[in-house]
Amino acid sequence: MATADVLAGIRTVNHWIGGKPVESASGRFGVVWDPATGEAQAHVAFASAAEVDRAVADSKRAFSEWRATPLSRRSEILFRLRELVDANRRRIAELLTSEHGKTLPDAMGEVARGLENIEFACGIPNLLKGGFSEQASRGIDVYQIRQPLGVVAGITPFNFPAMVPMWMFPNAIACGNTFVLKPSEKDPSVSLFMAELMQRAGLPDGVFNVIQGDRVAVDRLLEHPDVKAVSFVGSTPVAKAIYETATRNGKRVQALGGAKNHMLVLPDADIAMAADAAVSAAYGSAGERCMAISVVVAVGHVADPLIEAIRSRMAKIKVGPGNEEGSEMGPLITREHRDNVASCLDAANAEGARIAVDGRRDPACQRKGFFLGASLLDDVKPGMRCYNDEIFGPVLVVSRVNSYDHGVRMINENPYGNGAAIFTRDGGAARQFQFDCDAGMVGINVAIPVPVAYYSFGGWKASLFGDLHMYGPEGVQFYTRAKVVTSRWPDPVTSKVDLGFPQNR
Ligand code: NAD
Repeated sequence: MATADVLAGIRTVNHWIGGKPVESASGRFGVVWDPATGEAQAHVAFASAAEVDRAVADSKRAFSEWRATPLSRRSEILFRLRELVDANRRRIAELLTSEHGKTLPDAMGEVARGLENIEFACGIPNLLKGGFSEQASRGIDVYQIRQPLGVVAGITPFNFPAMVPMWMFPNAIACGNTFVLKPSEKDPSVSLFMAELMQRAGLPDGVFNVIQGDRVAVDRLLEHPDVKAVSFVGSTPVAKAIYETATRNGKRVQALGGAKNHMLVLPDADIAMAADAAVSAAYGSAGERCMAISVVVAVGHVADPLIEAIRSRMAKIKVGPGNEEGSEMGPLITREHRDNVASCLDAANAEGARIAVDGRRDPACQRKGFFLGASLLDDVKPGMRCYNDEIFGPVLVVSRVNSYDHGVRMINENPYGNGAAIFTRDGGAARQFQFDCDAGMVGINVAIPVPVAYYSFGGWKASLFGDLHMYGPEGVQFYTRAKVVTSRWPDPVTSKVDLGFPQNR
């Protein structure tokens, strides 16, 4: 929570309820930093339980009318939203760069990948088609329809303040639900701009509400009887706790957690291509991506030339403010997080790993913002802190193994299972990897295999708690429940009393 002197004279990020900004009366606030300058740029309201109740009540009121809105009308609004987000890509990207710190081109990429989910949801009339069985019995037809759940909540992390909410609300709303978003308190402003765009697109007030806040807001959403489902994306301990609490309270939950994504490089791989991919996937967005590559598993003699190729590329990475022309890697989200990431380098050294490149020496670390250069750790083994923890910063670790089997065993024994990639020229080995590895998203010579919007996103093991993955077809399934109707129209000729159990043949 913020103290009064930090907050003096800066703008406030408020809630959005019932189609307008709503000031918080809780008296609790957090600081929104500018990670590139290290200065406070706004304060964000922390909702009280009563303010959450107000948002949920407003969403509940809007639900009955919204679920009755024809599919073609819902689709029309989503098409308009698509146009508005498209037209405002740069504005959204600038907003998120200023609060998150990632570079502007990276932020533009985030908006583009989010937009794909709105485009997918525009097809809702097609996506909600059910099945129909004519003559399931004599004169009887059976069909399935999918209906919305009611008020659903989304709780999102700091690292994709535009894209991750767009993984959730387009499908949720298209399916006829109303949505309460609790964005990350670290970069909350994009959520309000999205709410404004939705209103301009013609979405009725109350269908999309935003509640700013911390754990108090989340806890109330998890226990509120009118919240029917919770979509969460964030760290594993919080994902697990949210899954357990919300399911105990009878809600449908998908809770996506953290990751430690491995990239297995076989001796026959194209070393230049593998090094380009490893550097891009490890240090893009300063490593603050759940699909970042954080471990390179080098098999056999590929290790030395691969590490050399990675080092030579790292030397050229330009670290600087996200909105500065030419910056390739921005600052980390907060000072504490930067210091925590930096501290893992000495810890790794003490545990027997070798610091091959030390990001603390990058000239950008002299700036006032939360900067840290790219680091590379070699000779890393399971059990070391830098291997076991999700560092979530610009630190890539390399483990050397002597066989494919050893590499796959490492990947499968890791508690996380978000993404995994293999780099090889051998199609047979790649296919075997796809068969063997315990991860929800696999890349073959692709380091960041984030599925396109018409598939679904989700990891395995400690990277996802719940049954259904996010967005795409599984998103539609998550935000609807099935109803099966068995129907017969009156036929006075065949009607009779029969107390036996209904037969179909
Ligand atoms: P976080 O878990 O700290 O916060 C996520 C959300 O939960 C935020 O809205 C936050 O306000 C709320 N929250 C935090 N602590 C809470 C608590 N104790 N009780 C209730 N709510 C709480 O995550 P973060 O630091 O914002 O984001 C980074 C994490 O998210 C990383 O672990 C990353 O791997 C993960 N992530 C995962 C995916 C995925 O798809 N699996 C995608 C993006 C990010």
